[in-house]
Amino acid sequence: MPLYRFVCSVCHHEESLLLKINEEVPPCSKCGGELVKQISKVVSFKSGSNLKNNDVGSRGSSCSGCSGGSCSSCGG
Ligand SMILES: [Zn+2]
Repeated sequence: MPLYRFVCSVCHHEESLLLKINEEVPPCSKCGGELVKQISKVVSFKSGSNLKNNDVGSRGSSCSGCSGGSCSSCGG
């Protein structure tokens, strides 16, 4: 049974209700107003802490004295 979130259109009281199919939405338990179903938004979490610029394997140019690894002259 899906759990829906409703917000009262009068007093903005939030309720989470389990509703069957074809079951009518009950009125607000606080003021008796009309409950409006909320559409759940997709929340995207930003994970910027794991983003690193790894340029391994994309070394373009190497100097003549570079034999791989860390080279002080070409930076490669
Ligand atoms: Zn209400």
